[in-house]
Amino acid sequence: MAHDASFNPFQMARAQFDKSADLIGLDQGTRDLLRSPLREFHFSIPVRMDDGTVKVFEGFRVQHSDARGPAKGGIRFHPQETVDTVRALAMWMTWKCAVADIPLGGGKGGVICDPHNLSAREQEAICRGWIRQMNKNVGPVEDVPAPDVMTNPQHMLWMLDEFETIRGGRYPGMITGKPVGMGGSLGRTEATGYGAVYCLREALKELGIDVKSTTASVQGFGNVSQYAIELYHRMGGKVICVSSWNQAEQKSVSYYKPDGVDLAQLQAITDRFGGIDPAKARELGYEILPGEAWLDREVDILIPAAIENQITGANVEKINKRVKVVVEGANGPTTPEADAVLFKRGIFNIPDFLANAGGVTCSYFEQVQCNMNYFWERDDVLNKLDAKMTAAYHSVSDLARNKKLYMRDAAYVVAVNRVAAACRDRGWV
Ligand code: NAD
Repeated sequence: MAHDASFNPFQMARAQFDKSADLIGLDQGTRDLLRSPLREFHFSIPVRMDDGTVKVFEGFRVQHSDARGPAKGGIRFHPQETVDTVRALAMWMTWKCAVADIPLGGGKGGVICDPHNLSAREQEAICRGWIRQMNKNVGPVEDVPAPDVMTNPQHMLWMLDEFETIRGGRYPGMITGKPVGMGGSLGRTEATGYGAVYCLREALKELGIDVKSTTASVQGFGNVSQYAIELYHRMGGKVICVSSWNQAEQKSVSYYKPDGVDLAQLQAITDRFGGIDPAKARELGYEILPGEAWLDREVDILIPAAIENQITGANVEKINKRVKVVVEGANGPTTPEADAVLFKRGIFNIPDFLANAGGVTCSYFEQVQCNMNYFWERDDVLNKLDAKMTAAYHSVSDLARNKKLYMRDAAYVVAVNRVAAACRDRGWV
């Protein structure tokens, strides 16, 4: 994936928070408390590699806030991981859980490593080492990790096993994103993509647009994107362009088909990292275009669902004048500079920590099911998810309409107010 070393997500997260603190008129003490993580852990994980040498990996856990409940957030394995990325993501988790109105705070973790170059045994050792460092500070009532970029249900199960071995008991609510049958929840795989489309459905209703008359362009073709496309197609919409990262050529590529992409056909030519094969796509009649072409298509809806920092001051003007809605499946895809342009152009934005809250909401359901040791049917999970996401969407859009706020600002006002109230009610500030 392309990484822009000059982009600092924590600075962006703080700028967004400062703006909302000004809007609310937040007192200085609460502002200072929420501008920085409540606590952070930086540690070394020694691992005996397959060749017999010992390699030391750098690990992090940032707990931004646990005012509304145990910290919650994924653990990312990435070679370019930085503590500022983890801090930003932890802060966004706080707002996400608050806007979804689930009783959890915000956290995030990471390890600087590249799973592409690690055997399964080495990855297991990193997972177990991470828990050895953090076991005193994570747990069902302290901080509940989950998968993120390049970590998966197997990693979560290794972490749980290490935790339970150290603690000497069974604590399935200590971590989420586990395999179904080993404490995982049905519906978790679909949850983020579906959640984004539940929000989109509500937005289109409010805007008076029939979903069946709409077309969309999507950035990314991984977990979030594929399930978002699946549900949007079932609702009658048509995706005409999808982009993904081409690992061989180290660049992004857009795949364009004006009469609509075929989801199953594209899935059949996609690798497990969400990279589409350009040669096979060309054979199937897709036009192969530069990576950024997804952004300037003549569509009603844009769904950035890849990585952060994708709609920026440098490219926002390329957005076609037909575009009415941007649904942020990814975390942090739009910079504050681009936000200002979207707002000016009247493009309706469904901001990241609202649009992609379906994943953590379902993780919360997973924890609830684990704690009561009773597992729900898939339809039960998805119906509960729809109800939560729909309520979250309306709490934000009602405020945006009544106070004439940009949707991101309204989402921040809702979330920051809830977290600030918890800090105040606890007597912290
Ligand atoms: P994924 O790894 O399954 O897929 C990522 C996709 O993005 C891949 O298709 C990859 O090829 C593509 N991509 C990467 N860089 C790109 C670029 N420069 N241009 C175009 N495409 C590019 O990841 P995911 O789980 O679908 O997550 C996507 C985003 O959603 C991330 O920002 C993630 O933090 C966020 N998110 C995910 C979840 C979840 O439950 N999976 C929950 C909340 C937020």
